[in-house]
Amino acid sequence: MRKKIFKYSALLLICFVFVLSCATFSFAGYDLGLPSPVSSPVNAGYLYGEKLNSSSTYGHMGMDFAAPIGTSIYSTYVGKVITKGDLGGASYGKYIVIESTHPYYTNTKFYHYYCHMSELSSSIQVNTTYPAGTYLGLSGQTGNASGPHLHYEIRMGANNWYAQRNPEGFLGRSSKDNYAALRGKVLTSSGSYARAIRISGATKGTDVNYGASYSYYVMENGSAFPDESAYGLNYYITRINPGSITLNYNNGARTSTVSASSNTDTLVPSVSLP
Ligand SMILES: [Zn+2]
Repeated sequence: MRKKIFKYSALLLICFVFVLSCATFSFAGYDLGLPSPVSSPVNAGYLYGEKLNSSSTYGHMGMDFAAPIGTSIYSTYVGKVITKGDLGGASYGKYIVIESTHPYYTNTKFYHYYCHMSELSSSIQVNTTYPAGTYLGLSGQTGNASGPHLHYEIRMGANNWYAQRNPEGFLGRSSKDNYAALRGKVLTSSGSYARAIRISGATKGTDVNYGASYSYYVMENGSAFPDESAYGLNYYITRINPGSITLNYNNGARTSTVSASSNTDTLVPSVSLP
């Protein structure tokens, strides 16, 4: 009997360690802990996934920092400059793309986009690798921009439209800033990843002026808006005030109350919409 108990205990322990290591891997794999590319606060009114206005047919594919024209921009991660371009009055305007690889994803390329700049540093050369924190140039309002800001975008796995990821999941993390972070997934009643929904209830730190709500939309062609579903989650809300938080999904369709601690990433149990 004792032998049997020992056997089962050992088996349980192995399972526990396995589950723990899986959880740790998926957690750590997502945590690049990148610094902000610019000292300016995030534009709370137009977060990743938000529609620009009610007639927009797709969501915002990056993060906007409210940087006045002429603010210094620095690379967030080591990598090779693959584009140093100027699209004139269209799209990204003056922009730089840096390709990099992260130790957690040795076979996966990351593409960091720094857009709408007013000036690209003359010392930056294409096909040259630079360390994190390299001066890239000055922020501006070039290209398709309604005001001065830095549009920062991350693509993962491929350098195309559908490979965009929410930079919030890669930038400054709760483990360093005394804020809390929540991550999780919202599913439809049929079990697929929910789109075009708003999540509210978390309060962001005022020092960075994030918005308090989050939205996901579908693209005009019906394809899912790029998100973090590859990692088993489809929302990520960082730098929020700790405490008991009631998240509200899709204007009250569901709520879930979680305890968010400072310097901790809390995984919220999955929510299925009615
Ligand atoms: Zn933007």
